[in-house]
Amino acid sequence: MELRDLYQRIILENAKKCPNEQFQNETVHLHNPTCGDDIAIKCQYDNNLFKDFEIKADGCIIFKAATTFMKELCINKTKEEIEDIVLNFSKFMTNDKKVNQKILGDAVVLQSVSHLPMRIKCAMLPFKAIYQLVNGDDNNQ
Ligand SMILES: [Zn+2]
Repeated sequence: MELRDLYQRIILENAKKCPNEQFQNETVHLHNPTCGDDIAIKCQYDNNLFKDFEIKADGCIIFKAATTFMKELCINKTKEEIEDIVLNFSKFMTNDKKVNQKILGDAVVLQSVSHLPMRIKCAMLPFKAIYQLVNGDDNNQ
């Protein structure tokens, strides 16, 4: 199996696991008008950790896979750890060489779309959402 096919399969599997829960009073709600991707998120902050993520997400395959990866990577982490993940993912998607890939886990498969600017927006949306949430920046969408 070629690497590209393997990445495609991992993306599809994770897109199927994308959380789409129903809940009220989201902290952050972001929308990608060019594709229609939509994410609402809230979580508890306890003992310096962000936990109990509630996520309502719907959109394209890339966005849904990225949302699954974001949740797996960022749950039960500190603000600093989450910022580090988002920063590294952002650099990774823009092909910056100085990236700590280890902390990105399976999300590295999304590099297969990093040559497509429209798809980068899809992949970045859940990471932008968690970044805004941990920074309490929910008025500036
Ligand atoms: Zn999309």
